[in-house]
Amino acid sequence: MKLQEYRSKEILARYGVPLLPGETATSPEEARAAAQRIAGAVVVKAQVLVGGRGKAGGVKLAATPQEAEARAREIIGLEIKGVTVRTVLVAPAAEIAKEYYLGLILDRAAKAVTVIASAEGGVEIEETARTNPEAILRLALHPLIGLQDHNVRRASFFLGIPPDLRRDFAAVLKGLHAAFMDSDADIAEINPLVVTTDGRLVALDAKIVLDDSALPRHPDLEPMRDLNEEEPAEVQAREAGISFIKLDGTIGCMVNGAGLAMTTMDLVKLAGGEPANFLDIGGGAKADRVAAAFRIILDDPNVQAVLVNIFGGITRGDEVARGIVEARQTFTREVPMVARIVGTNAAEAAEILRAARLITATSLDDAAAKAVAAARGVQASERLG
Ligand code: GDP
Ligand code: MN
Repeated sequence: MKLQEYRSKEILARYGVPLLPGETATSPEEARAAAQRIAGAVVVKAQVLVGGRGKAGGVKLAATPQEAEARAREIIGLEIKGVTVRTVLVAPAAEIAKEYYLGLILDRAAKAVTVIASAEGGVEIEETARTNPEAILRLALHPLIGLQDHNVRRASFFLGIPPDLRRDFAAVLKGLHAAFMDSDADIAEINPLVVTTDGRLVALDAKIVLDDSALPRHPDLEPMRDLNEEEPAEVQAREAGISFIKLDGTIGCMVNGAGLAMTTMDLVKLAGGEPANFLDIGGGAKADRVAAAFRIILDDPNVQAVLVNIFGGITRGDEVARGIVEARQTFTREVPMVARIVGTNAAEAAEILRAARLITATSLDDAAAKAVAAARGVQASERLG
């Protein structure tokens, strides 16, 4: 779960990271009132979960409340990388002497929480990684001890933090690390971390990405979710207890087990098709969850065929088959459906599916090929029609 800048800053503030606290606003008038309270120059910032807001015109300075209102009017409603801005953050403007990048990520390859630091702050770190990789420090932390003082010193010297700010820098990195660990984050970054012209170290922008699988441990963080920016189908799926990720293809996939779902997507691609989604209905799925999964898949207008791939272990194949046939009666649109159900009670399952005139398959290759052909058939007839 990605957190908006103002939410990320809320968390970092609890860990003593120095920030310029602002207020959110959803209208130009609110932005003006916020700027009035702040009294002084402000920065008006689009709150959307995409990078590079500055370049896209989503971050603007304003000297007066009137100007803040005008800038907010420009930014609210602006579309940045496909997302419409609804909320802005109004915060005191900083006078910047130097910008740094400072982040923590969970680096799977290094099997460690890793500090990423660069003196080329303000630009996206991916950009620096491409154009100037030696400007980036990657520091894998000890998996048990975590952040140690020598790690902090190493980062501080690499960045060339001025001597009188090294103590403050240590507090920032330690706070960022504690926030990262306590909230089970995958990413926590400050970009830019700045030195102001009056010699203070301040986090001007923050981004935290939480590990979805760890969210049940953080009921206090769940309300920070921004439903405006989530794929509605993914929200529905989460509520139904289904793991679902929307993709851009035409073959809807309904599978039990994450590994099997990945394999299914690979085979769809190998057969020349494109999966419309990743979907894992989970173990021992009941008829209602099967029905919910179908609804979510078929809500996507790109879906031209559905590939059902079930391996029955504890899950009984005939139960799933019955679930499919029942669910199908409630569908609002007809799409060809190819089902491969193997394992427990596979023969009974095949019988039920054939009786309901579903396309069946025995092997996974066969199922993928049939689903791709079926999707093409729909596309071809649509062109003819
Ligand atoms: P991003 O583009 O989405 O990463 O948004 P940021 O919050 O990082 O802002 C982009 C850039 O705008 C920063 O790197 C700064 O150069 C500039 N910026 C942001 N806040 C301020 C501010 O308070 N004062 C000044 N002078 N510049 C700012
Ligand atoms: Mn930034």
